Amino acid sequence: MHEIVNVTFELKTYEYVEPFRIANNVEDKAHNVEVKVYLKDGTVGIGEASPSYRVNGERVSALLALEDDVKEMISGEDVKNYRRIFNIMDGLSRTAPSVKAAVQYATLDALSAVWDTPVYQILGGHKDRIHTDKTIGIDTLKVMVEKARKTFEEGFKTLKIKIGENLKEDIEKMVAISEATPGASYIVDANQGYTTKTAVQFAQEAYKQNVNVVVFEQPIMWNDHDGLKILRYASPFPIAADESAKTRHDVYDLIRNECVDFVNIKLMKSGLSDALSIVELAKTTNIGLMIGCMGESSVGINQSVHFAAGTGAFSYHDLDSHMMLKENFRGKFKQERDSLIPTL
Ligand SMILES: [Mg+2]
Repeated sequence: MHEIVNVTFELKTYEYVEPFRIANNVEDKAHNVEVKVYLKDGTVGIGEASPSYRVNGERVSALLALEDDVKEMISGEDVKNYRRIFNIMDGLSRTAPSVKAAVQYATLDALSAVWDTPVYQILGGHKDRIHTDKTIGIDTLKVMVEKARKTFEEGFKTLKIKIGENLKEDIEKMVAISEATPGASYIVDANQGYTTKTAVQFAQEAYKQNVNVVVFEQPIMWNDHDGLKILRYASPFPIAADESAKTRHDVYDLIRNECVDFVNIKLMKSGLSDALSIVELAKTTNIGLMIGCMGESSVGINQSVHFAAGTGAFSYHDLDSHMMLKENFRGKFKQERDSLIPTL
């Protein structure tokens, strides 16, 4: 009854409301792959892959070409035995992690329909709502301050600020944003744009100027573990790995080598299976967690909303990409300003 009989991939292109700029990268479109799994009884489960060439080395054309292989890999499996399907999809961890995420989630989405239980409760039901930040991309100081002020006034208490292209300007921007949004918390993300030295300077200066940075995300290159370790102990703010932390193995190495205080889990880097492992690793070692996104539409953000609420594992949620894309909302969650509430 609940065996998978078909899997389809469909390319979906979404335009950004305005170009989204981070250190050394600008995006104006998200090219995502929508995955559907069909069960024998007619139930359909849906997932979304939002691939990143910059982080994962994934190309959309290569992902679309996996459709028949994935169908062959999981056809005949019963979604009630979803761990079997998770294990099969772990084979794509290095080559197509976003497809792994989409297929694993589509499996749970189908199971959710079969059991008439929302995915967040299948995953533990720890929370019934989460609060997201909203991201301010790199722009002039004036534009960033204005956007930050407006976003804070809309009710987003945590703002994610993109920096990493110019140390002096970044400090000026953070001080100005801080003055314009008293009481806000900031996740500051340099997307690997700094060196260890400039990252230390940024953190120490922002701290001196009383900027309330709660997480300083991926200041330096993903593979510079020595630099991260130095930075972790020289920075007054918690240091988070994003681009450095894809699989459970990456996170194990980062923690063992004392490189980070925080990890930014993204389903598009890890899939659900590695994300679940990382949650337990972080709990075991007292490392903080946030959850982030790539260019997911509401279909993809839905996955992270249910994952985050179900596990209840995250101090911060950066699940805002659907608000940056032109789309018709299709998530199984309600949004009330910064609150995201998972539904069936
Ligand atoms: Mg990041």
